[in-house]
Amino acid sequence: MRPVLRLFIGVTIAILILPTIIVGSWERVASTPDKQQPEITVRLYVSSNKQLLNIGLEEYVKGVLAAEMPAKFHLEALRAQAVAARTYAVKRASVFGGKGCNSHPQADLCDDPAHCQAWLPAAELQKQWGMLEYQSNWSKICQAVESTAGEIITYQGVAIDPLFHSTCGGKTEDAGAVWQQSLPYLVSVECPYCKHSPKLKTEQRYSLTAFASAIQALDGSIAVTAQSLRATPPNFSIAKKTATGRADTVSIAGKTLQATTLRYTLGLNSTRFTHQVEGDQIVFAVQGYGHGVGLCQYGADGMGEAGFDYRAILQFYYRGTQVTNIR
Ligand SMILES: [Zn+2]
Ligand SMILES: [Zn+2]
Repeated sequence: MRPVLRLFIGVTIAILILPTIIVGSWERVASTPDKQQPEITVRLYVSSNKQLLNIGLEEYVKGVLAAEMPAKFHLEALRAQAVAARTYAVKRASVFGGKGCNSHPQADLCDDPAHCQAWLPAAELQKQWGMLEYQSNWSKICQAVESTAGEIITYQGVAIDPLFHSTCGGKTEDAGAVWQQSLPYLVSVECPYCKHSPKLKTEQRYSLTAFASAIQALDGSIAVTAQSLRATPPNFSIAKKTATGRADTVSIAGKTLQATTLRYTLGLNSTRFTHQVEGDQIVFAVQGYGHGVGLCQYGADGMGEAGFDYRAILQFYYRGTQVTNIR
């Protein structure tokens, strides 16, 4: 073949084929969004205005993360908390077969931290943080959520109950010791990572009169008084401890109470405490903050500082679990 003819054939082929290749690649780019799954939304009950909000799952997780963990925490801890928050939503949301929030029948979730998970809108975060801090905090929150988008924690293929608390104080608690229902992934682990928590060791004082009246208000049949608390032997003591050393039950004037009930009544930071009477006060030396089950937030922060990534953090506190994609 003559060089001129070869060139002519080459150019003809290029003219015929190139547009197909270009159009083909454009089509691939253009068709990408169509192939994506539609965005998952959840119905959130917002208590400040008593309204139901339809919100994208990932957007919801950002508001939870900002409300449930200090933004100054290590990025890997924030990632771990983001995956836990998403797991909680997936466990509750009707779109995944969940039962929803049983306090608000129309909602998948509510923003009450004592019931579902805390959640804060951008306007509230701007108020809390101030505009300057908001910019840097929010971009860190977005990074933690977006880099783990769609990831949840599963145990044997099922989304877990991702319980968490602020500070375990050295050892997390078995779920069965707190709620009488054990779960294989919510078992006690030694946690040496939360030593930097301001709640590692706290002292809480109550006047004997205030202590006695709080107990009386809880159960009028408990005959406790400031005087009886000063008696020898004292009529308040830890009756039984859990396997990890937290108070399980307490004895007050001959009656037995769950230590968790005492904790909520007095506002004690945790049930890992010792106590003594000093003059007209009862002094609790408390370790940790929260129920102690599942992920220890300050521990997660400490693990991040120690070089662990969010998957290692989650697998440390939720034993035998995996991080998987929603679909
Ligand atoms: Zn709720
Ligand atoms: Zn801990």
